[in-house]
Amino acid sequence: MLAEFDLWRPQTLPEALALLADKAPDVKPLAGGTNVLVDLRDAAHVPPALMDLGKLHELRGLERQDGHIVIGGGTTLSELLMHPLIAEHGSVLRDAAAVFANPLVRNRATVAGNLVDASPAADTAPPLLALGAEVQLTSRTGSRWVPLEDFMVGVRKTLRRPDELLVAVRWPVPAAESKGAYSKFGLRRADAISVLSAAVMLERDEAGRCQAARIALGAVAPRPFRVHAAEDRLKGQAFSAEAIAEAARLAAEAARPIDDIRGSASYRQRIVEVSVRRLLTQAAQ
Ligand SMILES: Cc1cc2nc3c(=O)[nH]c(=O)nc-3n(C[C@H](O)[C@H](O)[C@H](O)COP(=O)(O)OP(=O)(O)OC[C@H]3O[C@@H](n4cnc5c(N)ncnc54)[C@H](O)[C@@H]3O)c2cc1C
Repeated sequence: MLAEFDLWRPQTLPEALALLADKAPDVKPLAGGTNVLVDLRDAAHVPPALMDLGKLHELRGLERQDGHIVIGGGTTLSELLMHPLIAEHGSVLRDAAAVFANPLVRNRATVAGNLVDASPAADTAPPLLALGAEVQLTSRTGSRWVPLEDFMVGVRKTLRRPDELLVAVRWPVPAAESKGAYSKFGLRRADAISVLSAAVMLERDEAGRCQAARIALGAVAPRPFRVHAAEDRLKGQAFSAEAIAEAARLAAEAARPIDDIRGSASYRQRIVEVSVRRLLTQAAQ
């Protein structure tokens, strides 16, 4: 049995923001509901009211704009899988969407819901971090872009104020010569909470050396994060087996996994090293 709650159904973004300005934090946004409705079963997480974002066309759509790929916060995982812009300019995100939950959940689950929920194992976060994404937070008084790297601050904690909605996510269109790779480790092939979710993006210079690298990990620390020490190890270097192995070792060193029912901390640390080495090798080829 679900607890009772009031449901608001604003028709436009200004209406939704006005409602939040007046009533937050007593009104909680509801997108696909795949986290919120699970939380509602737990009496400790029942908000006085929910606000359904389903009618807000301002949260939908994917486009290329001013050198960025911009997607509405209400974009579902299924839409990511189908859209040609994501296939072309966000293949790591597409690959993450392909192994996210199951088709029914993918049809409802949104990118904003995944990022605002801020689980350490939020699977859209590593690919978006690897793409260098920012999130747009909008309230009745204005809008701000925040690097995704700063947005998630801890387990289920973000920089979002209760009166703000996550309206959009954007990342710079990757350079033509950049390549990415993504992998998810779970205890089964579908519907698995990640034991590790990892993404890399690499860019080469004309001599074939590493011009830029982004390496991002999920499910092995209180929040998804980028491994700057490993990225710095690669910059300006040829993609040798030694450089890649050293970057992978630094990634494992940066991980802060815990023991839980899905795996021990030491197992997770080991798969970070193996997985990052494989992903870098794949992207460098
Ligand atoms: C069976 C099952 C399998 C799952 N598998 C995975 C998986 O493989 N990987 C994974 O990462 N997650 C998984 N999840 C978790 C969940 O599906 C995702 O986190 C999903 O992306 C949440 O999106 P939603 O639209 O359903 O969010 P909701 O449940 O509607 O909302 C989640 C949170 O975000 C807030 N919110 C939503 N939209 C906005 C917005 N625009 N602005 C501000 N706040 C907002 C809500 O208030 C709430 O706090 C799974 C869940 C289930 C039930």
